[in-house]
Amino acid sequence: MILKIRLYGDPCLTAKSKPVKKVGVAERMLIASMFETMRAQKGVGLAAPQLGINEQIFVVDTGKDALAAINPKIIQASGSEVCEEGCLSIPYLQVSIKRAKDLEVEFIDENDHLVRAKISGLLAKVFQHEHDHLQGKLILDYLPLPERRQVLKDIKDGIYTGKMSNYECTRA
Ligand SMILES: [Zn+2]
Repeated sequence: MILKIRLYGDPCLTAKSKPVKKVGVAERMLIASMFETMRAQKGVGLAAPQLGINEQIFVVDTGKDALAAINPKIIQASGSEVCEEGCLSIPYLQVSIKRAKDLEVEFIDENDHLVRAKISGLLAKVFQHEHDHLQGKLILDYLPLPERRQVLKDIKDGIYTGKMSNYECTRA
Protein backbone atom coordinates (compact mmCIF):
# COMPACT_ATOMS: atom_id res chain seq x y z
CA MET A 1 0.00 0.00 0.00
CA ILE A 2 1.35 3.41 -0.93
CA LEU A 3 1.31 5.72 2.09
CA LYS A 4 1.33 9.49 2.31
CA ILE A 5 4.76 11.02 2.94
CA ARG A 6 4.78 13.74 5.59
CA LEU A 7 6.42 16.99 4.58
CA TYR A 8 8.58 19.36 6.60
CA GLY A 9 6.51 21.11 9.26
CA ASP A 10 4.90 17.85 10.39
CA PRO A 11 5.83 17.33 14.08
CA CYS A 12 6.53 13.59 13.49
CA LEU A 13 9.62 14.53 11.48
CA THR A 14 11.35 16.32 14.35
CA ALA A 15 10.31 13.92 17.13
CA LYS A 16 12.46 11.07 18.43
CA SER A 17 11.21 7.64 17.47
CA LYS A 18 10.65 4.81 19.96
CA PRO A 19 12.30 1.38 19.71
CA VAL A 20 10.09 -1.39 18.36
CA LYS A 21 9.26 -3.97 21.07
CA LYS A 22 8.18 -6.86 18.88
CA VAL A 23 8.52 -7.59 15.16
CA GLY A 24 5.28 -9.13 14.02
CA VAL A 25 2.76 -9.10 11.18
CA ALA A 26 1.92 -5.40 11.63
CA GLU A 27 5.60 -4.41 11.38
CA ARG A 28 6.15 -6.62 8.31
CA MET A 29 3.10 -5.10 6.62
CA LEU A 30 4.35 -1.59 7.41
CA ILE A 31 7.78 -2.45 5.98
CA ALA A 32 6.23 -3.79 2.76
CA SER A 33 4.25 -0.53 2.41
CA MET A 34 7.39 1.49 3.15
CA PHE A 35 9.29 -0.24 0.32
CA GLU A 36 6.35 0.31 -2.02
CA THR A 37 6.00 4.00 -1.07
CA MET A 38 9.75 4.65 -1.36
CA ARG A 39 10.00 3.00 -4.79
CA ALA A 40 6.91 4.85 -6.07
CA GLN A 41 8.71 8.12 -5.21
CA LYS A 42 12.01 6.85 -6.66
CA GLY A 43 13.64 7.38 -3.26
CA VAL A 44 16.58 5.34 -1.94
CA GLY A 45 15.47 5.40 1.69
CA LEU A 46 12.40 6.01 3.82
CA ALA A 47 11.97 6.17 7.59
CA ALA A 48 8.75 5.48 9.55
CA PRO A 49 8.49 9.06 10.94
CA GLN A 50 8.15 10.24 7.34
CA LEU A 51 4.84 8.37 7.33
CA GLY A 52 3.77 9.82 10.67
CA ILE A 53 4.91 6.77 12.66
CA ASN A 54 7.49 7.51 15.35
CA GLU A 55 8.94 4.02 15.54
CA GLN A 56 12.54 3.02 14.86
CA ILE A 57 12.09 1.47 11.42
CA PHE A 58 13.51 2.42 8.04
CA VAL A 59 13.99 0.89 4.61
CA VAL A 60 16.78 1.41 2.09
CA ASP A 61 17.11 0.41 -1.54
CA THR A 62 20.13 1.75 -3.39
CA GLY A 63 19.39 -0.32 -6.49
CA LYS A 64 22.26 -2.58 -5.46
CA ASP A 65 21.44 -3.28 -1.82
CA ALA A 66 18.10 -3.29 -0.04
CA LEU A 67 17.38 -3.67 3.65
CA ALA A 68 14.77 -3.04 6.30
CA ALA A 69 16.22 -1.95 9.65
CA ILE A 70 14.43 -2.04 12.99
CA ASN A 71 16.00 -0.45 16.11
CA PRO A 72 19.20 0.33 14.12
CA LYS A 73 22.45 1.26 15.84
CA ILE A 74 25.68 2.63 14.42
CA ILE A 75 28.38 0.77 16.36
CA GLN A 76 31.38 2.26 14.60
CA ALA A 77 31.95 4.91 11.96
CA SER A 78 35.10 5.80 10.03
CA GLY A 79 36.31 7.83 7.07
CA SER A 80 34.41 10.74 5.60
CA GLU A 81 32.83 11.72 2.34
CA VAL A 82 30.71 14.67 1.26
CA CYS A 83 27.40 13.86 -0.37
CA GLU A 84 24.63 15.95 -1.91
CA GLU A 85 21.50 14.70 -0.23
CA GLY A 86 17.84 15.24 -0.73
CA CYS A 87 14.88 14.10 1.34
CA LEU A 88 11.38 13.00 0.32
CA SER A 89 10.03 15.12 3.18
CA ILE A 90 11.74 18.32 1.98
CA PRO A 91 11.31 18.22 -1.80
CA TYR A 92 13.73 20.28 -3.91
CA LEU A 93 16.25 20.92 -1.15
CA GLN A 94 19.76 19.53 -1.67
CA VAL A 95 22.31 19.78 1.12
CA SER A 96 26.03 18.88 1.08
CA ILE A 97 26.62 16.67 4.10
CA LYS A 98 29.83 15.14 5.40
CA ARG A 99 29.14 11.57 6.43
CA ALA A 100 31.21 8.62 7.56
CA LYS A 101 32.29 6.35 4.71
CA ASP A 102 32.35 3.01 6.49
CA LEU A 103 30.02 1.82 9.18
CA GLU A 104 29.56 -1.10 11.44
CA VAL A 105 25.86 -1.36 12.14
CA GLU A 106 23.43 -3.49 14.07
CA PHE A 107 19.70 -3.81 13.51
CA ILE A 108 16.82 -6.25 13.58
CA ASP A 109 15.51 -7.28 10.16
CA GLU A 110 11.89 -7.89 9.13
CA ASN A 111 12.24 -11.57 10.10
CA ASP A 112 13.18 -10.58 13.67
CA HIS A 113 16.83 -11.59 13.19
CA LEU A 114 19.61 -9.53 14.69
CA VAL A 115 21.97 -8.41 11.91
CA ARG A 116 25.45 -7.03 12.44
CA ALA A 117 27.14 -5.80 9.26
CA LYS A 118 29.91 -3.68 7.82
CA ILE A 119 28.57 -1.37 5.15
CA SER A 120 30.01 1.36 2.96
CA GLY A 121 29.30 3.49 -0.11
CA LEU A 122 25.80 4.71 -0.86
CA LEU A 123 24.27 2.16 1.50
CA ALA A 124 26.23 3.66 4.42
CA LYS A 125 25.21 7.22 3.43
CA VAL A 126 21.54 6.36 3.25
CA PHE A 127 21.76 4.38 6.50
CA GLN A 128 23.07 7.52 8.25
CA HIS A 129 20.40 9.73 6.66
CA GLU A 130 17.60 7.38 7.75
CA HIS A 131 19.16 6.85 11.19
CA ASP A 132 19.03 10.65 11.58
CA HIS A 133 15.29 10.60 10.83
CA LEU A 134 14.76 8.32 13.84
CA GLN A 135 16.45 10.94 16.05
CA GLY A 136 14.27 13.69 14.56
CA LYS A 137 17.22 15.09 12.64
CA LEU A 138 16.84 16.35 9.09
CA ILE A 139 19.23 17.43 6.30
CA LEU A 140 18.27 21.03 7.14
CA ASP A 141 20.01 20.66 10.50
CA TYR A 142 23.36 20.35 8.71
CA LEU A 143 23.08 23.81 7.18
CA PRO A 144 24.89 26.72 8.81
CA LEU A 145 22.42 28.97 10.65
CA PRO A 146 22.06 31.88 8.15
CA GLU A 147 21.48 29.42 5.31
CA ARG A 148 19.07 27.39 7.41
CA ARG A 149 17.04 30.52 8.15
CA GLN A 150 16.81 31.29 4.44
CA VAL A 151 15.73 27.73 3.60
CA LEU A 152 13.10 27.78 6.37
CA LYS A 153 11.77 31.01 4.92
CA ASP A 154 11.73 29.48 1.43
CA ILE A 155 9.86 26.44 2.76
CA LYS A 156 7.28 28.77 4.33
CA ASP A 157 6.99 30.57 1.01
CA GLY A 158 6.30 27.23 -0.67
CA ILE A 159 9.47 27.15 -2.78
CA TYR A 160 10.12 23.48 -1.99
CA THR A 161 7.31 21.34 -3.36
CA GLY A 162 6.90 18.20 -5.36
CA LYS A 163 10.36 16.93 -6.29
CA MET A 164 11.90 13.58 -5.56
CA SER A 165 14.87 12.94 -3.34
CA ASN A 166 18.23 12.45 -4.93
CA TYR A 167 21.67 11.43 -3.77
CA GLU A 168 24.89 12.22 -5.59
CA CYS A 169 28.19 11.41 -4.00
CA THR A 170 31.47 13.20 -4.45
CA ARG A 171 34.76 12.65 -2.69
CA ALA A 172 35.55 14.86 0.30
ZN1 LIG B 1 15.00 11.97 4.47
